[in-house]
Amino acid sequence: MSNFDGMEEKRIEGLWDCVFCGSKEIRARFDTCPNCGKSRGIDTIFYMPKERASSVLTEEQAKKTTDRPDWLCKYCDSYNRSDASFCKKCGAPRSHAEDDYGTLHNNKE
Ligand SMILES: [Zn+2]
Ligand SMILES: [Zn+2]
Repeated sequence: MSNFDGMEEKRIEGLWDCVFCGSKEIRARFDTCPNCGKSRGIDTIFYMPKERASSVLTEEQAKKTTDRPDWLCKYCDSYNRSDASFCKKCGAPRSHAEDDYGTLHNNKE
């Protein structure tokens, strides 16, 4: 196996805005807008998250996921409330989520 620690995702990832639909803070790992599906242009300007904490799951957010069956956005790895129909971070529809957060974890082992 490798030394890569998949659990630790604290690197800061650049963000970009979609000029087509206005989606904000799309992560650099995405070449296309998760909201409208357009490719980002070569002149896309990347910027850093305002707060480092915004790019990782904070302790407070982690706590919230325990009292609600939140779902994980597969586009930006954000946790969303169970009553949210769209990802609060990237705007992707909930139907695109792999599964709800609780189910993912219960089935892990
Ligand atoms: Zn877009
Ligand atoms: Zn998302």
